[in-house]
Formats: sequence, structure tokens, C-alpha cells
Amino acid sequence: MTPTQSRTGWGLIGASTIARQWMVEAIRAQAGHEVVAVASSNAERARSFATELGIERSCDSVAALLADPGVQAVYISTTNELHREQVLAAAQAGKHVLCEKPLALTVDDALAMVGACRRARVVMATNHHLRNAASHRRIRELVQSGAIGKPLFARVFHAVHLPPHLQGWRLDKPQAGGGVILDIAVHDADTLRFILGAEPVEAVALPHFGSLSRHGLEDGVMAVLRFDNGVLAQIHDAFTVKHAGTGLEVHGTEGSIVARDVMTQRPVGTVVLRNSDGEQPVPLEHENLYVRGVAAFCAAMQGKGAAAATAEDGVRSLAAALAIADACRTGTAARISDPFA
Ligand code: NDP
Repeated sequence: MTPTQSRTGWGLIGASTIARQWMVEAIRAQAGHEVVAVASSNAERARSFATELGIERSCDSVAALLADPGVQAVYISTTNELHREQVLAAAQAGKHVLCEKPLALTVDDALAMVGACRRARVVMATNHHLRNAASHRRIRELVQSGAIGKPLFARVFHAVHLPPHLQGWRLDKPQAGGGVILDIAVHDADTLRFILGAEPVEAVALPHFGSLSRHGLEDGVMAVLRFDNGVLAQIHDAFTVKHAGTGLEVHGTEGSIVARDVMTQRPVGTVVLRNSDGEQPVPLEHENLYVRGVAAFCAAMQGKGAAAATAEDGVRSLAAALAIADACRTGTAARISDPFA
């Protein structure tokens, strides 16, 4: 369905923190777009979420939301095990879909979601917000323009402290796709794919089971991805580290890019280019990552360009994260094959 009405109505599937903190505002920032309904598995939670955020309608089932003729697009931000069925239902109802990461718990499930949306001719995209950061977009331009010569290595520092209000299903519900790999490493993989313009082909990794680990779920990981352009990328993720700060580096034959405070939801951070001329700060025009991502999705719904992170990006980044999880489980290197081959 192409949203031709003067107003494109969005339905939220999931009364979640991310919707409350970032996404309702990001949708409302788009001219002609409004959040018209929210669905939760709990009627009272749906009602209070709608009241708090000034959303017209609330309901206690995905089916009811998808039957709403005022909804042309849905944003899915439920826990990870629910994404598959909800995307399939949305596609069947002819709604465009912006789905949270990780798209699903297996590559096959994610491929089924992509297939259903293709057949229904609706746009499906993945909410990998970091691609929209001014920092990562500029790093990508620098790498692709040859500013550091041939890229050889990358490092991602994404060890953070999971705030208490998010210490629920991520730690307590393995069947919901908890753990740091599906929560954070999947973002790192996507950001590296975006910056390097290359695909990961192999992963080695070791998990960490620290103070927040329960039910066998890892709350930290160190991994190395080998990309098809030869780059080795090191990833450090955690829920348990309060003061490390985040960052990303790319090191090439002619220079290095050093970015700090860039693995975050906020439009902040610095990028420095180091080469034989010395060290130059890279100017950045920061903007809200989620607003930019939703804008690209809205344009894609109108047939203008692609989403910032497409459905296919979501599948490929999930495949990389699952390979990291496999490598942790087996203690051996995991191959990452092309999910679309
Ligand atoms: P939340 O824990 O806030 O919400 C997930 C689900 O939990 C909701 O859909 C809701 O179910 C249920 N829930 C919410 N509040 C309560 C409560 N008080 N009691 C019981 N259940 C409750 O998750 P997040 O917002 O942190 O994450 C949601 C999704 O978004 C995940 O897929 C995650 O990976 C992704 N995410 C993406 C980010 C990004 O930047 N791209 C950042 C953060 C998360 P119901 O809808 O049925 O009410």
C-alpha cells in the first residue's frame, strides 16, 4: 500500500522503551506522518502508553492494530522472538514495516520476513540507527574515498552499562533473544558493514559471563570478524562496564580514523583523522539518528531511495551476530555465508 493520504498513519507494535524514548518523536518529526495507534499484549499498558504519548488509539492485539485502516506503516519494537510473526502479519495486512534489530533469532526466520514483505510489495527496513550518525557517515566517506589508504583493521569499543530499567528480558529471557551479542554486536556488525562497504565472512569470539549474566546468557563478548576485503575487525561489547566510553577506529596503510563516543543513541561524538600530515579533527554536523533513519524510511515508502538499513542489511548483520554467537558456543571459527546466495 502506498500512503497517498495527506497523513500517513503509523501503528506501534510494542509499548517499548525505545518507542517511548526515541521513535514516537522521530515519526512525528516527519511532515505528514503521525503515530495513530499502539498495540501491546496488555490492554492497560497500551492505554497508559497511548495516554502518556498522546496517541489516538490503543489496542491489546497486533491483529486489531493491523485491521486499523488508518495505519499504513508499523514500527515493531517488541522483544526479539516476536518480530518474525509480527512482520509476517504486517506484510499480509499490506503495511510497510520498520522492524527493530535483531530482525529475528535465526537467519531463516529473517529471510522469511524479507520474502513476505517483498511478495506483499511493502517496504521493510531494519532500525540500525548507527548508520544515521554524522560520525559513521563521515567515517564511511573517508574510508571509501581512500583517505586512509587500504583499510586493514577496525576496532569497535561498545562495552557499556545496561541501565537497571533495561535489565529485564535481555538478561532473564534467553528465548527472547537476550544477551549482549544480539543486543549490541549486531549493531557493531551493521556499522562495520556500512563503513567498510564489505561483508564479514568469518568470526571468532569468546563470551564473558559477568555480574549481570543469568540463564547462561553472555553479558560481554570479544570477537574478531574477517571481512571479504581482508579487514580484521575487533569487537568488544558488554552490559557490565560503566566507564569505558565507546569508540570506533579504522586503520589503513596511509592513515587512521579514531572516533570516540560514537556507539550511542545520541547525536554526539568526535572523529579524528591521523596521517603523515598529523592529526586533523573531522567536522561533523550532528543530527538525531532516529529522525534521519525514519526520514529515509518515509522516502522509501514513497518510492524515493532505499531505507538507511534495508531489510537485507538486517539479515546480513544478524548473520554476522549469529556467527559470533556460534563461535562463542563452539570455540572455533564460524564461517558466515551470504544469506542471499
Ligand atoms: P522494552 O523492554 O522496553 O520493551 C519490550 C517489550 O516489553 C514491550 O513490547 C512490552 O510488551 C514489554 N514491556 C514493556 N514494559 C513492560 C512492563 N512494565 N512490564 C512487562 N512488560 C513490559 O524493550 P526495548 O525498548 O529496550 O527494546 C525493544 C526492541 O527494540 C528490541 O528488539 C531491541 O533489540 C530493540 N532496540 C533497539 C534500539 C535501537 O537503537 N535500534 C535500542 C533499544 C532497543 P508489549 O508491547 O506487549 O506491551
